[in-house]
Amino acid sequence: MSENQDPCLFCQIVAGDLPAEIVGQTERSVAFKDIAPQAPMHLLVVPREHFGDIAQLAAADPALLADMIELADNLAGENADGQFRLVFNSGPRAGQSVFHVHGHVIGGAELGWTPA
Ligand code: 5GP
Repeated sequence: MSENQDPCLFCQIVAGDLPAEIVGQTERSVAFKDIAPQAPMHLLVVPREHFGDIAQLAAADPALLADMIELADNLAGENADGQFRLVFNSGPRAGQSVFHVHGHVIGGAELGWTPA
């Protein structure tokens, strides 16, 4: 599932062309604060390379997905006692609004369930 958003918002953030509060990075991934946080810790972890959604990323480059998860885990260790929820919305009906794959790294509080 992917839709065109040109220029891609998160590609612009990765490139430094749009401001964002960067909180961590690796050679291949970047993490920044969500502009509308839903929890005390609400970060977005994205690959520097553009993929539309998590299935496309995982099929093309599973090591890159692992890199993003390791970054999320490290940031949760710094900000939320190492406990976190990692959410990848995939497709508009699932809530995806930015079509550059991103994991929501959520934590810092007792988290409720369910999503709908
Ligand atoms: P989605 O709805 O695609 O799963 O998640 C997109 C997320 O990106 C939302 O939580 C939204 O608040 C966040 N977001 C949208 N635009 C910006 C922006 O310009 N900067 C930042 N830091 N986050 C954004």
